[in-house]
Amino acid sequence: MTMRQMVDQLNKWSHEYYVLDNPSVDDREYDALYDKLRALEEETGEVLFDSPTRRVGGEPLKSFSRHEHISRLYSLDKAVTFEQLDSFFTRIGKVVSDPVYTVEYKFDGLTMCLTYEDGKFVRASTRGNGVVGEDVTAQCLTIRSFPLAIDYKGVLEVKGEAVIRLSVLKKYNETAAEPLKNARNAAAGAIRNLDPSVTAARKPEIMFYDINYMSDGMPASQRECYDFLTKNGFKVFNKPWICHNEDEVKDAINQIELERRQIDVLTDGAVVKLDNVPARDVIGFTDKFPRWAIAYKFEAEESVTRVKEVRWQVGRTGKLTPLAELEPVDLAGVTVRRATLNNFGDIIRKDVKVGSKVLIRRSNEVIPEILGAVEHTEGSVGIEKPTRCPFCGSELVEVGANLFCPDRMCKPRVVGRIAHFCSKDAMDIEGLSEMTAGQFYDQLNIRECSQIYSLTAEDLSSLDGFKDKKIGNILGAISKSKDSELARFIFALGIEGVGKVAAADLASTFKTLENLRAADRESLIALENIGEITADGIVNWFSTPENAAEVDALLAAGVTPKNKQKEVKSSIFAGEFVVLTGTLPTYKRSQAQKIIEENGGMCQSSVTAKTTLVLAGDEAGSKLDKAKKSGIKIIDESEFKNMLGIE
Ligand code: NAD
Repeated sequence: MTMRQMVDQLNKWSHEYYVLDNPSVDDREYDALYDKLRALEEETGEVLFDSPTRRVGGEPLKSFSRHEHISRLYSLDKAVTFEQLDSFFTRIGKVVSDPVYTVEYKFDGLTMCLTYEDGKFVRASTRGNGVVGEDVTAQCLTIRSFPLAIDYKGVLEVKGEAVIRLSVLKKYNETAAEPLKNARNAAAGAIRNLDPSVTAARKPEIMFYDINYMSDGMPASQRECYDFLTKNGFKVFNKPWICHNEDEVKDAINQIELERRQIDVLTDGAVVKLDNVPARDVIGFTDKFPRWAIAYKFEAEESVTRVKEVRWQVGRTGKLTPLAELEPVDLAGVTVRRATLNNFGDIIRKDVKVGSKVLIRRSNEVIPEILGAVEHTEGSVGIEKPTRCPFCGSELVEVGANLFCPDRMCKPRVVGRIAHFCSKDAMDIEGLSEMTAGQFYDQLNIRECSQIYSLTAEDLSSLDGFKDKKIGNILGAISKSKDSELARFIFALGIEGVGKVAAADLASTFKTLENLRAADRESLIALENIGEITADGIVNWFSTPENAAEVDALLAAGVTPKNKQKEVKSSIFAGEFVVLTGTLPTYKRSQAQKIIEENGGMCQSSVTAKTTLVLAGDEAGSKLDKAKKSGIKIIDESEFKNMLGIE
């Protein structure tokens, strides 16, 4: 590719990304070509007049009125390795001795600049090309996360990132006629939309992180800048990490990388800034970036690849889910070969065809999600709506947006039902995996969970790979499961919408299986974790003759679910939500957990907004840091013993 071709290609992509909010390639592909161009420019010393390395963002759309920023807005230089970050530290170190840095989340949305005069909000604008942005005041007024009146009475410009929470986007896409591909473009498209009611419907928020201009002088540091923002009512996501050396910066980046998948906002990196503002003025700016800040970009979570085939899977409830087979692509360190789509309606709304190029995103789930098609080719073939079950051939039933196989005895339904029934959080029958359930189906004619209780050693010995020890273990686990806790048993039944938490709630409220079977809709809805749809689902489930017969068969097989109340010795930890972290000197964590629960507390696996107490031992890691940052009470083992009155 010649330099001219590179510049043309990048400018075309930038136009699609910044102006149309509809990229045709993922950021990784854009960045790779951008880096190549930059290297070529450095090598040859030539920079074309319209090179993207010379400009910030995109030109403002003509349909919006233009706003000239009081002070120019910049982009950020980037590093993708710690070595590149070290060069940044070296550059700073040459000018500032003992620099202090702040590290912040880098949210991936649309840069926003809000102007205030005399304590009043007057205008919101986009970054645009850095000098002139689009006036999006009317759109911004539909957002609640910034104040209209502030204490500061001078002229002020504050900067933030307009984002759409991932959960909000997911919900929006469930019913949207045209789903939005990713959170970044969704946020940009929501703000840069001439109709403010579209902005309001997409529910963006702004996370503030900087001051761009202040008529009577900037705060002396980034820390003070955050204090100012918070004091004046701007939403900041969290306070920045304050780092006194380079290792602390790297620790903070590592922590953000760990945490970022747990938060509800799309992040593409961390921003490192020199804390001291007067020192920044000495260091200055390039054409495009401040020299005193850098974005550390994480590996892309999104990528573009091609759909090779779409297969339909049938779950235990009979629901059909499409699974796309993809051309393998590397994404955040793993090779992705498959991605899910929710249902047939999802395929149509996302316009996915076999042969199409699609944008995929790795989320918390193991299998990534298809966000939408970015390009069709001549050979792209639309996906047909199946009418018959791909496994048993039964005619499919359509309920809402989903297709169901109605045959309870269809193999994947039976196998899914048995595997769920035996799973760890349900009846905990070790060794009874999906594969074993498949063997039971094929070779032993097992069709219901209750039938596993009449299996004999002789039956099992006829199966491939079943030796005496394995047979003994499985029969032992099956027999042990008869004495099950009621909550586990309810969860094991696999009623749609009844997860572990709801099952525990049902068990502690209704106390016996008989009571639950007889419960009506009203008494179910009264529970905290049961909504109307789940309540109807529970009533229907028990009144379906096949389910009722199966529950009877389980009881007849000797399963006796009991509601085992945890013995409470005292209320020392009543109302406390406790997180255990690190190694305690004398107690194992499981012992400490038992003691907390016996004394009225609840244990959690991670620090959340609910957490009230952290019991920390040696080598406690990120949970302890998070607790410290959130100001949660932290105790060690000796304080724990003191609370319990133990010497
Ligand atoms: P950027 O998004 O990489 O970084 C700069 C921006 O980060 C700032 O303008 C600001 O809005 C934001 N930011 C978030 N949190 C911040 C914080 N705490 N402090 C300061 N700033 C913060 O740079 P850019 O110039 O907006 O975009 C360039 C990138 O856009 C490219 O690297 C590429 O990945 C992507 N891009 C993609 C395409 C495509 O077709 N896929 C085209 C053009 C650009």
